[in-house]
Amino acid sequence: MRKKIVAGNWKMNKLLDEAVALTSELVNMAKDEVQNDTKVILCPPSIYLTTIKNYIENSPNFSLAAQNCSDKVSGAFTGEISAQMLQAVGVEYVLIGHSERRQYFNETNALLAEKVNTALANGVSPIFCCGESLDQRQNEDYIGFVKNQITESLFHLSKDQLLSVVIAYEPIWAIGTGLTASAEQAQEMHAALRQHFASKYGADVADEISILYGGSVTAASAAELFASPDIDGGLVGGASLKSREFTNIIKAR
Ligand code: PEP
Repeated sequence: MRKKIVAGNWKMNKLLDEAVALTSELVNMAKDEVQNDTKVILCPPSIYLTTIKNYIENSPNFSLAAQNCSDKVSGAFTGEISAQMLQAVGVEYVLIGHSERRQYFNETNALLAEKVNTALANGVSPIFCCGESLDQRQNEDYIGFVKNQITESLFHLSKDQLLSVVIAYEPIWAIGTGLTASAEQAQEMHAALRQHFASKYGADVADEISILYGGSVTAASAAELFASPDIDGGLVGGASLKSREFTNIIKAR
């Protein structure tokens, strides 16, 4: 049975008191709405992780993710945060390869493979983000492009390692644009990615991997997306900053 996940990526938003208020509201509103098989993962800015942890500790369906980690283990890398540090403060997941990091911080598939390795070595599960640009969707083999992101960053993993990874398919043209992929567009990619995992690791492994959809998910679009057979939940940006909207997305799962 695949894990169902609704994750909220707050990006570089909220001051501390706002972050705490949002978490408290979510915990209160969502506590009766989260189904037992569903995990809610909050991805606040790293500076808030230890504080937010205190506010979710009595909510077993809630977990934390960092938005990034270093590819290095430790040492003279000013400003970086290691996977081991995340693990030590009780962070279970880390976003790796968000398109904003690929675009603004030049993160390559090879670098992301190193980040995946250090996360897994420290018991932190990567939420590996992948997705194509609008130009690639219109002019290229966009499914082949996303499969290649996965091949280059994940296909060196063993089966057991891969089963600790969550995939988030996030078409770049849908992130923060208000343009959600249709359920058909998202399902097409999710099925193709699951098939890609099956070709390398076998159908049983592919069947166990959670593949989330991300890109302008709202309470209005969530139910149809989440009803698709290969969509196991969502990675939500803008709509995760509003407690009522995010709770309604959680409810839709
Ligand atoms: C994201 O940043 O991962 C994302 C999906 O953002 P939004 O929901 O705002 O498109």
